[in-house]
Amino acid sequence: MFLRAAGVVAAARGGVSAGALRRAATAASAPPDSSKLPPAGSPGPSKPCGHGLEISSGVPCFEIVNIAGAGLGAIATRDIACGELVVAETPTMMLQAGEFSVQTAKFNAQFNNLSRAQKRAVLRLSDCWRMAGKRRSLEGILRTNGMGCSSDSDDGVLCLEISRFNHSCAPNCEQSWDGTALQERVHACSAIQAGQELCLSYIDVRAPRAERAHRLREGYRFNCRCAACSETACSRASDARRASLQQLGRDLPMVGARDPAAGIKVVSDMLLLYDQEGIDLHTLRKQACYYAFQLALHAGPAAWASGWAEQAYRHSRLCCGEHHPETVWLLGYARDPHSHPALWTPAFEVCNPGKHRSAMDPALKVYALAWISAISLVLSMGMVSERSTVHVRDARLKAD
Ligand SMILES: [Zn+2]
Repeated sequence: MFLRAAGVVAAARGGVSAGALRRAATAASAPPDSSKLPPAGSPGPSKPCGHGLEISSGVPCFEIVNIAGAGLGAIATRDIACGELVVAETPTMMLQAGEFSVQTAKFNAQFNNLSRAQKRAVLRLSDCWRMAGKRRSLEGILRTNGMGCSSDSDDGVLCLEISRFNHSCAPNCEQSWDGTALQERVHACSAIQAGQELCLSYIDVRAPRAERAHRLREGYRFNCRCAACSETACSRASDARRASLQQLGRDLPMVGARDPAAGIKVVSDMLLLYDQEGIDLHTLRKQACYYAFQLALHAGPAAWASGWAEQAYRHSRLCCGEHHPETVWLLGYARDPHSHPALWTPAFEVCNPGKHRSAMDPALKVYALAWISAISLVLSMGMVSERSTVHVRDARLKAD
């Protein structure tokens, strides 16, 4: 299976392929478990909108309406601030990883346990795999609307309301999964005006236009007409920027492993390209800053690491909310960078900050701490030696 994609996940796994569900580049703090689903008949989607990353109002900020040429979609009914929670939804179905042929019986069992109203709502969702003259199938619906909830597994969820959000290669919303609250959430990743359509990304939007078009046709059978795909005048520059983002993302682990300072420069370049290209996804920026944080732990003074962790934390607040487990972990790293236990494996946690912290074997922790101490000692000796050299040089200059 694959799930709605946005960001690094699809790129890392080779992107969209037929027979999979939409993957989200969202982070999870726990894998989905169908036994934790709400009982049949319980209310499904939609918690109220909120402002400032908290749910503070019961007034919905969007409505699902017909959109010319795009079926149903979500339209903002009022202005929405960047980082505002648009919707938090309890999934109607949990989709464990595995081929559909293997999982079909489990999916059917879950579906059969839903209330009649939920079944009707599921069967009203889009099925881009429907054959001409045939009815929608559960498999086709799950493939079309399933969303990934973890960056390191193929597990996913089916959400009735969030499934209605259409795709854009320059989305103004992004989704995240909270494995503790068992909720899929959508936050605005830029300021949105009343009347604008709310869009998510189904694929890794950092691909050039032709590649995005191929993935969307192959995975979802539509031709994208978003602003990024329709803009002809700037398409060449846009493609160049997105191709650079892809390449920098691929290069980063190797560059960072060889030279942490050079890796941090790559992250800075990526952040600049996100700005220039108008890709507002804070999930991607959070991951980049978190990577830089881990490299900074190797590369220099704790203040650098703290600064990158602080940036990652700010992006996490905007894309996941103040109380999301990852936001909380990142705040902890910003306050105390050396509390990070995986200093020696920057790539290890980049998609799931904090996830492996409690799961790490105690012996491994001792090993990691020993490495941290050794590296810190070497770095501090290097800095002392460099400072001494500078002092000597300064003294000579003064003497001269
Ligand atoms: Zn597009």
